[in-house]
Amino acid sequence: MIIKPKIRGFICTTAHPTGCAEHVNRQIAYVKGTGRKLDGAKKVLVIGASTGYGLASRIAATFGMGADTVGLFFERPASDDRTATAGWYNTAAFEQAAREAGYVAESINGDAFSQEIKEATLKLMKEKLGKIDHLVYSVAAPRRTDPVTGETYASVLKPVGQAYSNKTVNVQTGVVTDVTLEPASEEEQRQTVKVMGGEDWSMWVEALADADLLADGFTTLAYSYIGPKVTHAIYREGTIGRAKDHLEQTAHDLTTRLKPYNGRAYVSVNKALVTQASSAIPVVPLYISILYKIMQEKGLHEGCIEQMQRMYERLYAGGEVLTDERGRIRMDDWEMREDVQQLVDEAWAQISTETLPELGDLESYRQEFLHLFGFGFDQVDYEADVNPNVQL
Ligand code: NAD
Repeated sequence: MIIKPKIRGFICTTAHPTGCAEHVNRQIAYVKGTGRKLDGAKKVLVIGASTGYGLASRIAATFGMGADTVGLFFERPASDDRTATAGWYNTAAFEQAAREAGYVAESINGDAFSQEIKEATLKLMKEKLGKIDHLVYSVAAPRRTDPVTGETYASVLKPVGQAYSNKTVNVQTGVVTDVTLEPASEEEQRQTVKVMGGEDWSMWVEALADADLLADGFTTLAYSYIGPKVTHAIYREGTIGRAKDHLEQTAHDLTTRLKPYNGRAYVSVNKALVTQASSAIPVVPLYISILYKIMQEKGLHEGCIEQMQRMYERLYAGGEVLTDERGRIRMDDWEMREDVQQLVDEAWAQISTETLPELGDLESYRQEFLHLFGFGFDQVDYEADVNPNVQL
């Protein structure tokens, strides 16, 4: 099959196995290239392990700390006329590299919210991994079915309280327009918290404790975002922000719960980056295009892998972990630097379809977006016939 990108709105419905392997291998090479082997976690479960921050965490854990991993994700294998999803191909490439390097790399594909997949994961862990000293919870999902009540919740990206208008960009055409988003109802807020808040993270920790799979000194991480004022109404003060507040509160509750294991739960506030999840948020891709240019010019640009490697260097530096006053690890420290945000504000005030090529870097945004699906790599021959049926 000759595989080309098919972009529909903010997703690409095809993925390229060789290109996804290139994307993963570049991340592995980055971690190896740091030349550092951290004395950190050795047995790790990553939930949401196939793309974005979760995949980068898994790579940094294995190649930066020497960790054996089980990875859980929700991806689709190839069928007769469709490629697999990028996360499927990413995982195949990761597993191959990790196993060749002598590490355990086992994976489960299914719905992390379900009881069935929790049980299957615990079983696999008992067989292949044993007690873990670290859990990464990096799920970004549009909906969740509660395993106890059977109720299905949907998450929405909307402001809270009042309608919000700002500029946004159509990433494919480069046209900047105004967008107005109506506020979420109470019910939509509640449902978003159910999907993207900390409830399922807590259930996982409980399930691991019940199965006697938590080692002494266990740590667990989930990821959050704060961002600048221009995105507050749609992000931090919107429905997703309510869910992140819940996630951050869950970290405190879990730290109390983990006392018997001398354990700790953290939220790491990560940088805004192009991922499948962030592409879906209005306003944010325009902000990322501007941020990308400014951080590149200042030599501060990082992708998921640079963020996660630096995060583990902080988490496992030894001694007290550096956090903000609310106990959060701040990997958005460079993004939120005053000099960076001042330039963002100045650019934002002037941004339009005409000024975007000068004030932002939409080309890099598009390039990163294509990379997520294994496209746009010079090293890959996209005219070559490839087998989309990759086995895990
Ligand atoms: P992503 O879309 O790249 O990854 C989501 C992962 O969740 C994938 O591995 C996917 O397979 C998995 N997943 C989705 N539904 C699932 C389900 N039902 N069961 C099991 N796995 C499921 O997203 P991302 O941007 O890496 O986001 C991960 C976390 O990082 C989220 O909490 C997000 O809010 C946070 N974060 C993202 C950014 C950003 O700019 N992208 C910034 C800060 C924090």
